[in-house]
Amino acid sequence: MPPQAAAPVPARSSAAHSSAGPTSPTSPTGPTGPTSPAAATATGLCKVYGRGETRTVALDSVSVEFGRGQFTAIMGPSGSGKSTLMHCMAGLDSVSAGSARIGDTELSALNDRQLTRLRRDSVGFVFQAFNLLPTLTASENITLPMDIAGRKPDRRWLDTVVSTVGLAGRLDHRPAQLSGGQQQRVAVARALASRPEIIFADEPTGNLDSGAGAEILAFLRYSVRELGQTVVMVTHDPTAAGYADRVVFLADGRLTDELDAPTPEGVLDRMRRFDAKARTS
Ligand code: ADP
Repeated sequence: MPPQAAAPVPARSSAAHSSAGPTSPTSPTGPTGPTSPAAATATGLCKVYGRGETRTVALDSVSVEFGRGQFTAIMGPSGSGKSTLMHCMAGLDSVSAGSARIGDTELSALNDRQLTRLRRDSVGFVFQAFNLLPTLTASENITLPMDIAGRKPDRRWLDTVVSTVGLAGRLDHRPAQLSGGQQQRVAVARALASRPEIIFADEPTGNLDSGAGAEILAFLRYSVRELGQTVVMVTHDPTAAGYADRVVFLADGRLTDELDAPTPEGVLDRMRRFDAKARTS
């Protein structure tokens, strides 16, 4: 059975969806003209670390599109380039060759200040290690990126996000007073709060037990289906990938395969086939 557990449905979900703005999957054309139908695009993306004997080709000409309003999982064995791909696409790491775009924006064309602004305004992050500030309450952590940017949070949207991730009673708690699952919910709410073009999640359930992990994955999927969010998640877990709309597989820095409407069993089967192929080649 694919993990189809429903996330709690907030009362204003349809209003939130219809006001999803230019990131909505139903509005690929912005006020300044046609925009890319993809939320993020890699074209011939290469990333090389080190030189000489320590030279490592982490990404070897990867071309992939992450569709707007889609939940995509990136899978592959350890060292296959998953995190590097995510970091290059999120503007956290430079590329050696090729192109990484968020919407129509070519990341390599941006200077440091523009890149910082793009990450702040257009990208949301969820990390395995939650990365919350211990001295701030859950509520303060959620709005911190917007506070730093000097942006006023949209209260209605914030209420929707908070009720979606089920945090309403815990907004005044500090991270140490919350369980791991609750802390990751705060991190998901923080990522959703500014309605970024795209959310990158790096092993978001890696530090959680399976129950809390299932809740986080259901929230991420809910944010895609009902709130129009775009999510790209790195995972090595077939069950987690089963929540996505699509899985892309990496091996040795190359994109090797993809699977639409994945089930955990289908993902496992595909991974076993890669292993068998790797053993015979
Ligand atoms: P994955 O996320 O699939 O485990 P990574 O993207 O972390 O893989 O790593 C891909 C390859 O790049 C690995 O061989 C790794 O050792 C190498 N690598 C990653 N980051 C660095 C770095 N900062 N310096 C040197 N090599 C790196």
